[in-house]
Amino acid sequence: MDLPTNYISEFKEYALQLAEAFKVGIVISKPTGGIVLQVGYDSHPIENVRNVDLHIEGGVNFNLEISSTAHVSETALNAIEKSLNFCLNDLYQRYRIERYEMFLDTAADWFWESDPDNRFVYLSGKVEDVLGLRPAQIIGHTRREIHGRQHDLSTPQWQAHLKQLERHEPYCDFETRWVRPDGGIRHISLSGQPIWTQKGEFAGYRGTGLDITGKKQAQIDFQNLVEGSIQGICIHRHWEFVFVNPALVKMCGYDSAQEFLAVGSVEKMIAPYERERLYEYRLAKERGEQIDTHHVADYLTKSGEVITLESINSLIEWKGQKAILSTVIDVTQQKKAGQKLQEHRDQLQMLVDERTQDLMKSEQRFRNVAEAASDWFWETDENHKVTFISERFYELFDLTHEEVLGNSRLEIVENQMKIPDVSQVWSQHLESLNHHKPFSIRYWVRGRRADRVCIEIKGKPLFDDGGVFKGYIGAGSDVTQEVETQEALRLAVKEAESANSAKSDFLSNMSHELRTPLNAILGFAQLLENNGQANMTERQLMQLKHIRLGGEHLLELVNEILDLSKIEAGKLTIIAEDVDLKNLIDMCLPYASAFSEKYNVKIEDRSVDGLPLIWADALRAKQALLNLLSNAAKYNQANGTVWIDTMETSDGFVRVTIRDNGIGIRESDKEKIFQPFQRAAGQDGVIEGTGIGLVLTKKLLEEMGGRIGFESNYGEGSAFWLDFPQSVTPEKSNAPPDQMQQVDGRSVCAPQTHYTMLYVEDNPSNLSLMAGIVDCIPNLRMVSAHTAEIGLTMLQAQKPDLVLMDINLPGMDGFQAVREIRALEKVKDLPVFAISADALSDTISKGQDAGFDRYLTKPINLPHFMSILDEVLK
Ligand code: ADP
Repeated sequence: MDLPTNYISEFKEYALQLAEAFKVGIVISKPTGGIVLQVGYDSHPIENVRNVDLHIEGGVNFNLEISSTAHVSETALNAIEKSLNFCLNDLYQRYRIERYEMFLDTAADWFWESDPDNRFVYLSGKVEDVLGLRPAQIIGHTRREIHGRQHDLSTPQWQAHLKQLERHEPYCDFETRWVRPDGGIRHISLSGQPIWTQKGEFAGYRGTGLDITGKKQAQIDFQNLVEGSIQGICIHRHWEFVFVNPALVKMCGYDSAQEFLAVGSVEKMIAPYERERLYEYRLAKERGEQIDTHHVADYLTKSGEVITLESINSLIEWKGQKAILSTVIDVTQQKKAGQKLQEHRDQLQMLVDERTQDLMKSEQRFRNVAEAASDWFWETDENHKVTFISERFYELFDLTHEEVLGNSRLEIVENQMKIPDVSQVWSQHLESLNHHKPFSIRYWVRGRRADRVCIEIKGKPLFDDGGVFKGYIGAGSDVTQEVETQEALRLAVKEAESANSAKSDFLSNMSHELRTPLNAILGFAQLLENNGQANMTERQLMQLKHIRLGGEHLLELVNEILDLSKIEAGKLTIIAEDVDLKNLIDMCLPYASAFSEKYNVKIEDRSVDGLPLIWADALRAKQALLNLLSNAAKYNQANGTVWIDTMETSDGFVRVTIRDNGIGIRESDKEKIFQPFQRAAGQDGVIEGTGIGLVLTKKLLEEMGGRIGFESNYGEGSAFWLDFPQSVTPEKSNAPPDQMQQVDGRSVCAPQTHYTMLYVEDNPSNLSLMAGIVDCIPNLRMVSAHTAEIGLTMLQAQKPDLVLMDINLPGMDGFQAVREIRALEKVKDLPVFAISADALSDTISKGQDAGFDRYLTKPINLPHFMSILDEVLK
């Protein structure tokens, strides 16, 4: 311990005085070498040099050198040495006391001493600063007296302390509260050491007092803070809890801190699955590794419920030892919410994944469809340069990426595919491109495998949000096969059409060829029957009738075949109108009676008036009805009956049923009777027929929007019915019988004045047939010409009232002739009728186009013809 400078100076001063008084030289130095003092004395000669060590307690050591002349006695030198030694030790003692006082001053606020009765005998002045009492107010009093004034000393704490005092035990840091006279509160800490006499008798206490108000307040503040915190706080050391605040106690479901602390180990509170992880954390912390002070883990409450706590851990000093302070918050709800959120996120992710999958699938599907629909895809930029084209293109055409990308389609086709002239195809295409319109073009190019490949390119323009053209996107396909197939199909259709027209021509010609002689046969037969009855024998009349019936049958057959082929060729013209079914049936009855005669059956007409009008082509409806009537008579038994019934169906049709009690139809035959040329088994050669009547009837009905059906029991009879659609005209029919029926008597000749009819016909039998007809009309005369040219001349000269014109004439034909007539001013309004064996609807409409007023077909139906004459010449 070095002496402070002020003590050294005092020492030096003293040594100087001694040196002067004894007239000696003194050098005081440290053993390490530093000179503390050097006092020379110049009295000579130096005869004595004394070197001694100066010792003081506490280890301070100086070397002392005294140099003197012979005049200085040994005693004087001894005195100098002792004096300096004494001075140094005295200085040192003083300095020690001063230091202790300084220490005490800093270690405690006041000192005190008490006597064996524990009465204060001494108190340092500072006590007043803390307690607000002067030492004099305390001296002479015991602690019990002083503190008893303001404390209940019966508390365990005070009782324990007072016992210590009685037992003269040392005590340390006895803390108590003090209320100053001015009301201020101080917390003080007292420590005391008993004093014993050399005989071992108790002499009192000596001790210190400390004002710990600041520390105590800090403790209280800390406690308030910790106790009042909603955050959990705990302190643990080596995983043993040493402190816990109420918030954490509550968080973990305990009733008190004691109960909590009784659990002891942190480990017991950690959820089992977290233990290993947290143990690792603890080890790392103990190893002093830099680890995150913040962590989240699951813990168990008192009831075993899992809670999630988030804590921040820091190393602190707790009661003199290292410990961990953890501040804790309960994040269970957040975690659950987080988990929920995560679940939602996962679900969302799943949905997104699913949607992505779906999208990928639909994209794949789209690709598949697109690939199936086309062979390659392409894209061009705003300058029509190809920016992308799918690989399939390169497989189909012998081109490289360099030859394609960056070039326009025109460049690729012209330069790479070497197509000589594409200008024609392209002018229109370029127009579309320039106007940024969608396009679809086809052109031929050279392919990898074939010299000529027809490709179809379809493109769609692309625009950005601002409507600026960005290029085209599109697809291309090899349509060679399709184009070739179409071409083959077109040729086939053309061939079929020409074959069909050849068939129509053939049918037309055949019917013409057959009808012309039939015209003569039937016409003359009718004439003979009408006019020659008187001159003919019964037998001849019978024969004549056979001729007529045979002719009619033949005509019927020709007509049916013609009709059937017309229907098949789609050329049958149906002219539907409002028709009264009852009227129609009445018109058929004369024919039906012919059948009844022939097959020896009875016809019973039970049809009723007042049915709704039907919508039908009268001629075709009659044809169908007659066909059924003829069958009912034909496939009947001797003396059988044919019944005609009518009714209105519930679904908007009017039905006529032709029933017979004839042979009926076997089940096995029922299917085939509506097939062409199919007849019931065993009828060929027995009952005359061709097997096309029902087919035709069915087709006619269907053409008119009607239907046909039948019921039949073999051996008992059949019932065939025809359903005609009702007319849209609502009124029921009660019209008088048709005009035709009146003229049907063949003897009625309407015209009374003189009329001339010009008949242009090259066939002599037709001419004489017509002459015969005209003969029976009193006021009509006929002139004839066998060519159109002659006819035209006669026409202008004689101005007839009516012209009948054959179509197939040598030289100018009937069509040309009528055109000529319509061009001649004087005669252009004349009624001109075509009369031809050609009954094809095409020819008929051609006739109407050429200018004919009517188109009559051969053989002539006499009553019909006469009614027309009647009408025209009226
Ligand atoms: P076709 O009478 O010329 O043979 P259809 O087409 O008119 O031809 O009739 C076809 C077949 O239907 C006849 O051959 C006949 O076998 C049968 N058939 C038609 N009507 C009757 C009927 N009323 N009774 C019995 N069989 C009939």
